[in-house]
Amino acid sequence: MIHYKTSEEVERIKESADILGRAHGAIAKEVKEGVKTSFLDKIAEEFIRDHGAVPSFKGYNGFPSALCISVNEVVVHGFPSAYELKDGDIISIDCGVFHQGFHSDSAYTYPIGEVPPSVLALLNATKDSLYLGIEQAVFGNRIGDIGHAVQKFVEAKGYTVVRELVGHGLGRNLHESPEVPNYGKKGSGPLLKQGMVIAIEPMINLGTRNIVQEKDGWTIRTADRKPSAHYEHTIAIFEDRTEVLTTHKYIEENFKF
Ligand code: MG
Ligand code: MG
Repeated sequence: MIHYKTSEEVERIKESADILGRAHGAIAKEVKEGVKTSFLDKIAEEFIRDHGAVPSFKGYNGFPSALCISVNEVVVHGFPSAYELKDGDIISIDCGVFHQGFHSDSAYTYPIGEVPPSVLALLNATKDSLYLGIEQAVFGNRIGDIGHAVQKFVEAKGYTVVRELVGHGLGRNLHESPEVPNYGKKGSGPLLKQGMVIAIEPMINLGTRNIVQEKDGWTIRTADRKPSAHYEHTIAIFEDRTEVLTTHKYIEENFKF
């Protein structure tokens, strides 16, 4: 069942998303070579709690941390750890905030130092595919239009789309209906209606689309251990417009590219 939000509820999600955007900015200041990924998690959790909110992921189905931190071949759901970022890594930081009864969710993949041009191109294409997906996320279109736009764009560049993990509705729950795949047929799937709030989150691989789950029960990595990128926004559909509720603005202001 899809929960359609009132405009007032969307406003509350926007407030949650504002804390999330600024949490990402606080994290971005610390993302650099030599930093332990557990330190980034600490920054995020403190920032979120200092703003009267709760990290959505911590405790979700037993997940141990505020952030999912996924380095290089890890697609999503990696744990923050004692690992220190090194030159040439890419790091995906996924964060969720729960505030006034509503969740928001967004992710960004950073390059650390000198990253091979082929990997930087993967990051740029994945980010571009997110916005192409958002362009299709308009009233009267269907969920399949979003995935079709993402898939067509990235596959034309020789990349592959992870199938097993998808975007999602969200609101009072972190994951709600509908699923929002990053692949699909034009004109297929649920109709996009006023009050739908969804997270669009392409997970795009440099090599094979196949993934493997590590024995920890969470970490998802590429089967061929080639890099994977992930960008995510939470958006709201209105009859006359689509609003991107989350922002990467503070990341791009604070991270030293
Ligand atoms: Mg997320
Ligand atoms: Mg999500």
